[in-house]
Amino acid sequence: MAVDGSARLTVLTVLSGPSGVGKSTVVAHLRAAHPEVWQSVSATTRKPRPGETHGVEYFFITDDEFDRLIAAGELLEWAEFAGHRYGTPRQPVEDRLARGEAVLLEIDLQGARQIRAVMPEALLVFLRPPSWDELVRRLVGRGTEPAEVVAERLATAKIELAAEPEFDVTLVNTSVQDVAHELVALMRPTTT
Ligand code: 5GP
Repeated sequence: MAVDGSARLTVLTVLSGPSGVGKSTVVAHLRAAHPEVWQSVSATTRKPRPGETHGVEYFFITDDEFDRLIAAGELLEWAEFAGHRYGTPRQPVEDRLARGEAVLLEIDLQGARQIRAVMPEALLVFLRPPSWDELVRRLVGRGTEPAEVVAERLATAKIELAAEPEFDVTLVNTSVQDVAHELVALMRPTTT
């Protein structure tokens, strides 16, 4: 990690890993204990799942609105995932990094690669399931997506798992508490 003049970028942490691995649960747990860690709210063209609220889990927007954000350069990174687009609004992230505040992005592999390219000092953390069977169980068990969407996400997960060596650190999601604890330790000293 950089400790020189570019050190402010080290407060950016990217959490990635296959869909269904439990990234959101880990982040929710971490933020309950460390509200000073700010999580970016992504824009997506996917429809909300039951219980999801515009502006909380995501900004749920139309394809046209997403096109506009890309054209205006307002996304720090974006990717197409399982038939929908997801992107990180640039300005809120840059504002917080400029103030030296800890920023957490929970994004897919393609997005993590883009962040690596534009912000090389970012810490890239890969969250891995304890086993392939466990990932299948979680994705199927979520019960929020039709079978073909689950199948597509599993196919993508195989590709994503193979990218683990590209990351700075791997955490294995055996326990939400343990992983949240390990993740916050990696984000120090900015969270102490
Ligand atoms: P889900 O539809 O399950 O909420 O998210 C699908 C995938 O998109 C997850 O792997 C999630 O981490 C990723 N994702 C969420 N927001 C973003 C984003 O802003 N950019 C990118 N590249 N991926 C995202």
